Amino acid sequence: MMNAAQYRDSLAKRKPMKIWLDGQMLAKPLDHPYVKTSMNSVALTYELAQDPQFRQVMTATSALTGETISRFCHLHQSTDDLINKVRMQRLLGQRCGTCFQRCVGLDALNAVFATTFEMDRKLGTDYHRRFRNFAVAMERNDWIVDGAMTDVKGDRSKRPGAQKDKDIYLRVVERRADGVIIRGAKAHQTGAINSHQVLVMPTSSLREDEKDYAITCALPSDAEGITYIYGRQSCDERKLGGDEASDIDSGSSCYGGQEALMIFEHVFVPDEMIFMNGETEFAGMLVDLFASYHRQSYGGCKVGNGDVAIGAAAAIAEYNGVAKASHVKDKIVEMNHLNETLFSCGIACSANGTKLPAGNFFVDALLANVCKQNVTRLPYEIARILQDIAGGLMVTLPSARDWLNPQTGELLKKYLAGADGMSTYERVRMLRLIENLTMGRGAVAYLSESMHGAGSPQAQRVLIGRLAKVEEKKVYARALAFNNNLESVEAAIRAVLEKVRAAG
Ligand code: SF4
Ligand code: FE
Repeated sequence: MMNAAQYRDSLAKRKPMKIWLDGQMLAKPLDHPYVKTSMNSVALTYELAQDPQFRQVMTATSALTGETISRFCHLHQSTDDLINKVRMQRLLGQRCGTCFQRCVGLDALNAVFATTFEMDRKLGTDYHRRFRNFAVAMERNDWIVDGAMTDVKGDRSKRPGAQKDKDIYLRVVERRADGVIIRGAKAHQTGAINSHQVLVMPTSSLREDEKDYAITCALPSDAEGITYIYGRQSCDERKLGGDEASDIDSGSSCYGGQEALMIFEHVFVPDEMIFMNGETEFAGMLVDLFASYHRQSYGGCKVGNGDVAIGAAAAIAEYNGVAKASHVKDKIVEMNHLNETLFSCGIACSANGTKLPAGNFFVDALLANVCKQNVTRLPYEIARILQDIAGGLMVTLPSARDWLNPQTGELLKKYLAGADGMSTYERVRMLRLIENLTMGRGAVAYLSESMHGAGSPQAQRVLIGRLAKVEEKKVYARALAFNNNLESVEAAIRAVLEKVRAAG
C-alpha cells in the first residue's frame, strides 16, 4: 500500500494531461488550489490506512492474493466487509468534511467483477479473467480508479442511438483487431484528475441494437485523447488568495471535493482492458449492481459529513451563548436522529447482503435504494437546522480582509463578540465552516451530491417500486380481510404466495 506522500508522487509521475480549469489549460495541475485541496481528501484515504488505530477498518485481506490491501481496492468477502466499508466512509467523511472521491472505483470494481463472471458463464467470453488481472493490479498498485459511468445524455426523451449527435452517449466508433476506439464524454467525474485509472461503464440498460454503447473498459487516466474540464464549485474562488483571509473565508481550507467533465475524443483501448464489448443484455445488470453499491456508500460518507454539521451546530450554539436553551438542545437531538437514520440504512443494507455467484458480496438492493432515497432528503433537513442555530451572521459576515484590517478589525472584534469568554475569532471561523458546508464548496459534497450522486431521487424510486414485492404484500392484506379463522388465513397466504413465487 502507498502512503499519502507516495500517492501524491504517483500522481505527479503521470504523463502530461489535458486539464482545463477556468478557461486555461493547467501546466501544473497538482499545484492549483482547487486540485490540491481535493487531492488532500483522497490522500487521507492513504494516510489513515497507515495508522494502526484505523487499520482494521481501512484495510482488508485480498481474496485474490491474500495480501493486505486498502479496503478501497477490496472485493467484499462477507457482510462484515460491507459493514466495514460503511464505517470507513463515515470515518473519512468526519475527517475531511467533504467527498474523498475513492468510493466510485471500489463500487465499480465489485460490480464489474460480478458482471463479467456472469457474462463468461453465459456467453463463454474471457472478460472475467481479464478483469481479475485488472483487479489484482488495482490492489497491488493501490490505485485510485475513477468509475466513469454517467453519460452526458443530451435529450433525455431519446435513446442513445436516437440522439442528434451520436457521441452524446460514449460509444465504440471503431473496432480493430487489437482493441477499440471510443468517443464520447462522462459527466460529474468525481476525483477523475486525482485518479490513476479510469473504468468506463455504460450508463443505463441497453437494447439489442445499441451494441456500440455497451462498452466497459479500463485505461490510464493519462491516456492519449482524454480531456478534462474542471467543474466550478460554489465559492471556490475564496481559496485563491493563498493568505490567511482566504483560509478563513473559504470555511474549510484544507480539503475539497472534485468533479470534472471527461471527454474521450478518439481513445484506443487494447483488448486486454475490455470487459464488455457489445453484450447489451448485461449493461442493465452492471448499472444496477453499481448503483446499489454506490447508494450504500452514501449511508457512510454523508453520515460522516453530517457528524461535522452536528458538531458545528453544537459549537456555534456555544459561541452564540445558546447552548443551554432547550429548543437548541432538542434541535441537536433531531440532527442526530436524522443522521443516525442514514447510518442505520447504510448498515442495514450491508448486514442484509448476500454472496454473489462470482464470490463477492452484494448489498440488499432494496435497502440500499431506501438508504440513498433518505440521503436525498435528510442532509437538507440537517443543514436547515444548522443554519437555524447558526443565525443570519453566517451570510452577512464581513470579509476576513476586514477582520484582518486594523481599522475595521477592532470594530469587528468588539461588535461580533458572542458569549462571554468565547473567542470571537473562532466564532467567525465556525460560521464560515457552516456557510461552506451548507452553501459553499462543502455543500457540493454534503447536499448536491446527496441529491444527485449515485443517481437522482427518481432512480431510487424506480428500483424501490421494482424490488418492494407489493404483490406479496397484497396477499397478506387479502388473506386477513377475506378469512375469518386462523387456518384459512395461513392457508390462503401460503397458497397464493406459492403461485406468486412460481410466477417469479
Ligand atoms: Fe465516496 Fe461519498 Fe464521494 Fe461518493 S460522494 S465518492 S461515496 S465520499
Ligand atoms: Fe458521489
